[in-house]
Amino acid sequence: MKPDEYPSSTPLGTRPSADPTISRLTEIFGPPSKNIGLNCGPVENEALQSLVVKDKIGPFTATMLKPALTSLQSIFSEIQKTDPDLLKNVTNLGTICVRFGRGSSDLSTHAFGTAIDLRFDESAPSSASLADGTAKQAKVVLFFERAGWQWGGPSDYMHFQAGLPLIEKWIAAGELTSK
Ligand SMILES: [Zn+2]
Repeated sequence: MKPDEYPSSTPLGTRPSADPTISRLTEIFGPPSKNIGLNCGPVENEALQSLVVKDKIGPFTATMLKPALTSLQSIFSEIQKTDPDLLKNVTNLGTICVRFGRGSSDLSTHAFGTAIDLRFDESAPSSASLADGTAKQAKVVLFFERAGWQWGGPSDYMHFQAGLPLIEKWIAAGELTSK
């Protein structure tokens, strides 16, 4: 079904999504907020909000869904151990933010706090350097993928999000159950 085929009465954030992680997280929590637009809004969903934490990841502080943040902390310590140079100029460009994805009527995974925008290069890497794997951004992808994260690819190179198998693991371990 294309987004414009949904009846307009379907509440936002409850539609099936092209991204299976969005559908799964919506199944678990319901919509993250009542009013969702193109700009960042707050999390209004109490169950989701109760699992959002703020903590240090490498050189910066981030606010995210707890198991996502914990997973990122271990990715960063793995990179630190293996190739610390990759973390030299890393910038956090955004974590939790309730909005639609860019150019889409789907929720962004940022809305559930399972995504982060990170820049590892001092400036935007070229698509050629990303493609041949010489950009720092491309080098870190392996660390993320090994930990169950998906990369946004050259067209959304800053974007990293928890993949479905990782989210299923959190669900099975009771980590997405609000206390
Ligand atoms: Zn993103």
